[in-house]
Amino acid sequence: MKLFNTLSGKNEKLRHNTGKFKMYFCGPTVYSYAHIGNFRTYLLQDVLVRTLEVDGYNPCVVRNITDVDDKTIRDAMKTGTSLGDFTEKWTKIFHDDCRALSIKPPDFEPKATEHIGEQIAMIETLIGKGFAYVAPDGSVYFRISAFDGYGMLSNLDKRDLKTQELDSGGGKNLADEYNRDSVCDFALWKAAKAEDGENFWPSPWGNGRPGWHIECSAMAKKYLGKTIDLHSGGIDLKFPHHENEIAQSECANGEKFSHYWMHINHLLIDGAKMSKSLGNLYTLDDIRKHGYSPQCLRYALIAAHYSQQLNFTFNNLVAAKNALGKLQKFFAKISDGSGIQKFKITVWEFFGDAFESLLNNMNTPECLGNIFKKINEIDSGTLGDDQKSNLSREFSTLMYCLGLTLDEKEADVEVPENVKILAGKRWKAKTSKNFTEADKLRQELLELGWNMSDSRESYTIEKL
Ligand SMILES: [Zn+2]
Repeated sequence: MKLFNTLSGKNEKLRHNTGKFKMYFCGPTVYSYAHIGNFRTYLLQDVLVRTLEVDGYNPCVVRNITDVDDKTIRDAMKTGTSLGDFTEKWTKIFHDDCRALSIKPPDFEPKATEHIGEQIAMIETLIGKGFAYVAPDGSVYFRISAFDGYGMLSNLDKRDLKTQELDSGGGKNLADEYNRDSVCDFALWKAAKAEDGENFWPSPWGNGRPGWHIECSAMAKKYLGKTIDLHSGGIDLKFPHHENEIAQSECANGEKFSHYWMHINHLLIDGAKMSKSLGNLYTLDDIRKHGYSPQCLRYALIAAHYSQQLNFTFNNLVAAKNALGKLQKFFAKISDGSGIQKFKITVWEFFGDAFESLLNNMNTPECLGNIFKKINEIDSGTLGDDQKSNLSREFSTLMYCLGLTLDEKEADVEVPENVKILAGKRWKAKTSKNFTEADKLRQELLELGWNMSDSRESYTIEKL
């Protein structure tokens, strides 16, 4: 399999080890629902894992749970719950969402708070080697001027970095991190503050808690060793988080941290960045309320290339629903009823092009295009019985790679025909500026227990 490696800036063939193909994915901070932008990343990483399995790699995945940071502490204290109870609740919700979206669980899912010792040990190593220093308040910082490789992933040199950090408002953080030698130095250990309440751990430098970056370096080392094969996360993590992980790991371990880096691009909603203030932070529950299944969301989010931005609108879900319907229909026709599973396929007879698209920098849109092209060809021809079994095995294996279950039970909330007709009439009235009529029809829909939400170019119907 070939992937674009952010580190080298090139498409590279992933090397086949005899052992495990070791991967580390930066996981969620558990203080709220994950939004669909987060899920875009986890879903595409899931397609990668599944494709590697089918391609004969032996993937081993670590995806961490960040269960201590400013936000988890702040919100746990606000709700009057212990940090542990608070993050456990959100971790469970995250797991439920992942299961609904058919994201395979990682092989290891370490929590930051359960690895404080490993993080302290790594910080001690960094201090011992001269890469980190203790500030007067008991915080510990990484000295980026001590690491020549800093900036290798984001192609920034240290001078650019300084300007960038100051320009992007980095200066305002100085108030609580005034002890740093340089504004670019980042915290490995944060000394306890009054607003942290009881949420601190003892360390050689006094009470405090680890910085966010160090958890990934320490836990990757514990579960995967000093050097891993591939590291992945959303593109917003490339700098500074991933750059800092490289600095910590390579300085502490004295070895290369990761051979390949894969970054998943942003999700935009109706052309805008997702944000709380715009009210466009959709969760899986929001998608369900609009009458779409988790599988529809999965399809919509994996249908675009991971290296490109995806502009998400509710039309994407309409298209996804149609596409899933076609795949379901085709599978019902060719399968022996045993459901989606992966097979070992040595020579592809029907869907070789589609699988090749996945192997070539995980080109999911091209893969789906090739699948539908083939389906059309097959639908217009005739097949011998001997070909049917190969066809079904190949199709099933591709659906496994994409994580599409094609399960009828996954079907969406069924919108009754009369509701659909009313909704269509109301949309027509609204778009022809007959607002009195549109309001009257909306009222009728509400009385039937359905609500309509409009976007610029379309609408969705939601059960109340
Ligand atoms: Zn990380």
